[in-house]
Amino acid sequence: MTIETIVVDGLSLAKEIRDDLSSKIAERNSRGLRPPCLAVVLVGDDPASASYIKGKRRACQRVGMESEEHKLDQTVSQTKLTELIEKLNNDPLIDGILIQLPLPPQINAEEVAASVEPLKDVDGLHPLNSGRLLAGQEGLFACTPLGIMEILSRHQVPIEGSHAVVLGRSSIVGKPISLLLQQKNATVTMCHSRTKDLSEMCRQADILVAAVGVPRLVKRDWIKPGAAVIDVGVTELEGNLVGDVDFEDAKGVASLLTPHRRGVGPMTITMLLVNTLRACEMRL
Ligand code: NAP
Repeated sequence: MTIETIVVDGLSLAKEIRDDLSSKIAERNSRGLRPPCLAVVLVGDDPASASYIKGKRRACQRVGMESEEHKLDQTVSQTKLTELIEKLNNDPLIDGILIQLPLPPQINAEEVAASVEPLKDVDGLHPLNSGRLLAGQEGLFACTPLGIMEILSRHQVPIEGSHAVVLGRSSIVGKPISLLLQQKNATVTMCHSRTKDLSEMCRQADILVAAVGVPRLVKRDWIKPGAAVIDVGVTELEGNLVGDVDFEDAKGVASLLTPHRRGVGPMTITMLLVNTLRACEMRL
């Protein structure tokens, strides 16, 4: 049986949301309110991180948001980094703070996440925001899971009563997306590197979210016909970027499929903008 697969156009969905954000920011401006401002902190000179930051700056500009960059040396101490974060926490003109990951080995990333003011934590990594998500309360939550929920919602994928299987249990993707799906009344199975018979688990999924970083792990016969398949993974393999799902394999089995490029990625950056506007409005 071949199923017609809708391939998600993450760029178009992202544009819809960004257009809406532009209007909201223009409307704020017309009321004499300043545009929201995102501060991005980059430690070191990793080219991939520098390129992500450039993308974020451009995205801010396009919707009429301000952004500022703070570059620190690769050898910076935890104390210096915390001092900068403290300064940004106390700056009334900064609405969102994003610390670009990965951080160098001398820096404790958990301590850094916990030092960001929770109301400015647009990456949703502060323990208070993670706790709010766990408790089903309002807060700022991680951007990639929020982007996935937007994709499912905008494609009218039924979540309530569905069986969602999430591959990966990181704090930035696997755990928060599992909680968000559960809040929408999916029955969620969370898998990880020690899960036995992963393929059998996946075959039970109405919604399958793959966030492991293992190239083309999910094969055709792992997918239940008609499932919605969200590929979060992006790994460099022989000079190419590859997803966790074998895209060509999954086409014709999945009813909805995100490509590893122009799928979840553009939604992640867009949800960062959404969080920044929310953070700005929440503080006011
Ligand atoms: P991570 O922190 O490395 O976590 C990976 C998770 O996958 C862990 O829970 C790990 O299990 C599990 N895992 C690893 N190998 C596995 C296997 N063979 N079978 C089952 N589970 C396995 O990664 P992450 O930050 O969540 O990111 C995951 C992927 O998504 C990466 O490729 C990353 O680049 C990508 N990503 C993309 C976006 C985007 O916007 N497109 C955003 C974020 C991340 P254990 O817990 O047992 O170790």
